[in-house]
Amino acid sequence: MAVRPIRLFGDPVLRTSALPVTTFDKELRRLVKDLTDTMRDAPGSGLAAPQIGVSLRVFTYDVDDEVGHLINPILGPFSEEMMDGEEGCLSLPGLSFDLKRPERVVAAGQNMYGDPVVIEGTGYLSRALQHETDHLDGVIFIDRLDKAAAKRAKAAIREAEWFGEPAPEVKVSPHPLFGRAL
Ligand SMILES: [Zn+2]
Repeated sequence: MAVRPIRLFGDPVLRTSALPVTTFDKELRRLVKDLTDTMRDAPGSGLAAPQIGVSLRVFTYDVDDEVGHLINPILGPFSEEMMDGEEGCLSLPGLSFDLKRPERVVAAGQNMYGDPVVIEGTGYLSRALQHETDHLDGVIFIDRLDKAAAKRAKAAIREAEWFGEPAPEVKVSPHPLFGRAL
């Protein structure tokens, strides 16, 4: 088991658009395993490769006891129905904010062997698929908050103990009321 340090908000890798995976080799399978181990150790409901410093289009998820991964994801269609809910991120420990997201989404991509995969996400899985795909585009969920909420989020980040500090040694407990951080 390899648990890798999670990169925190402020790390440039989280603002970098990740590269598509073109080689489905042993190294990629190790990356999926490390992501899965790190996500479960946190614990979190999802983790994208840039969050462990690897700028590749790969993420893992763990929602409702369903653990999986997706490579080179493409999202859509999205449902018109939106859902409310609290969202957190392992790269912003201890913070969570309400964020409306489409209630359902279809995510297409590949598994670690290069086979095509389609995942239909509803509820928290839909949220996780959207949140993790955003990470691959250098987007962090607070970017999607409305102006007033984004202002509150930025103030909370500035006050967070971890902000501007090296990654904490101790594990930060997960916080969101509904589901875990992503
Ligand atoms: Zn996140």
